[in-house]
Amino acid sequence: MKRSLRTQLSLGFATIILITVALISLVSNFLITREFENYMANQQKKNSFEIANSVSMQYDGETGWNVDYIHGLGMYALNDGYIVKVYDQNNAVVWDAESHDMEYCHQMMQGILERMEQLKSEKKGQFITQSYELQHDGTEIGWAEITYYSPYYFDENAFDFVRSLNLILLVIGSIALIGAVCAGTVLASRIIKPIVQAKKTADRIAEGDYSSRADGTAKTQELKELNTSINNMAEQIERQEALRKQLTSDVAHELRTPLTNISTQLEVVLEGIFDPTEERLQGIYEEIQRLSVLVSELEKLQQIENNVIERTEFDLLDLTRDTARAFEVEINKKGLSLNVLGESVQVFADERKMRQVISNLLSNAIKYSFENGKIDIAVKRCGDNAVLSVKDDGIGISEEDKQLIFERFYRSDKSRNRKTGGVGIGLTIANAIVKAHGGTITVKSEEGKGSIFTVIFPADSRKTF
Ligand code: ADP
Repeated sequence: MKRSLRTQLSLGFATIILITVALISLVSNFLITREFENYMANQQKKNSFEIANSVSMQYDGETGWNVDYIHGLGMYALNDGYIVKVYDQNNAVVWDAESHDMEYCHQMMQGILERMEQLKSEKKGQFITQSYELQHDGTEIGWAEITYYSPYYFDENAFDFVRSLNLILLVIGSIALIGAVCAGTVLASRIIKPIVQAKKTADRIAEGDYSSRADGTAKTQELKELNTSINNMAEQIERQEALRKQLTSDVAHELRTPLTNISTQLEVVLEGIFDPTEERLQGIYEEIQRLSVLVSELEKLQQIENNVIERTEFDLLDLTRDTARAFEVEINKKGLSLNVLGESVQVFADERKMRQVISNLLSNAIKYSFENGKIDIAVKRCGDNAVLSVKDDGIGISEEDKQLIFERFYRSDKSRNRKTGGVGIGLTIANAIVKAHGGTITVKSEEGKGSIFTVIFPADSRKTF
């Protein structure tokens, strides 16, 4: 089963905090215990030395050993875990804790062993016997043997202290663990929340709500980038969707007129209202022709919008001259004069598509020129750009039409009235091709005086991508 990011993050944070707390507890426990053990070991040595010293003070030069006091001292020491045995200078026993109370001595030793066993300290201790020379006024008066648990041992109080210390560290560790889990969960939630929101937005977009947008003000850089990407994607889809709807309604609209014309014409002929004269059949044929042009133009546009640009190196002036030659018949029919001027410009672009651009612009110039008009095409280089302009002295374009002529199926009223045969896609195709090359098409025009279309694109259009 896949665990959620929230669970993984919470567990991750909790584990890190837990390990940190455990390490701190262990290290501090180790250090405190070590210091405490060193202190106790030193104290042990110091105590046994002081016991020997106190014993030597119980000797009087005239009356000898004060055995009662030594007994008191010895019993007191025994309570603290020291077994004292005192000898005089003749090696005769003056006082011996074990022979005095053997059972208590064993009890005490057993108690120490049990306590130390419980501590499970790495340093295993043992009972050792230390001998001290006893002196009085600089002369030797005997010696004392003191047996104790070395290097140190814990009496009841010290043992309780170490136990409490471990307990405190355990409590701190437990509180820290609970805190870690809570902090981990809160932190994970804070990180996850914007991701969950981004996912919800993506889901809404997937369900068709293209106007839905992710929060672009996220505080984390990566999340901000994720939200921006989602928003860009949504905008793109929204645009594509609008275009698709627009195209569908435009195509339906464009098809309706010729189809209605064809069906009405055929209807009246079939019903015997009118004869199928050549003129009538010619009208139907032209409408069908119009439909074929529309379909083939749409195909071209679809190809350009989907196709990749296939670049080769060629001379733009040569291409323009070559393309213009194909229009000689139409030009002559209208009595137009065509001049192709300018300089050789080597370009690295899609030759077939550029021919289409020149062809569309020139065909429009011819279509919208008056009889005996003049068309000038100029090719030049301007910095890194290739510039091509097509100028005519035809009907011109109104200010408001200028904004719309690059849209699909747009035709000005004048061009419709003149029955130019255009379907309103030529400029859209030209514009799409030039854009794909990283360039622009602009138009300057005055109604009744003519128009000039200017194409500018990088001579080597690879450099723009
Ligand atoms: P069409 O097939 O109708 O020519 P275009 O997309 O090529 O479609 O042109 C769109 C419209 O722009 C034309 O219908 C016409 O109104 C206008 N237009 C284009 N070129 C010219 C021009 N050289 N002179 C006047 N009007 C033009």
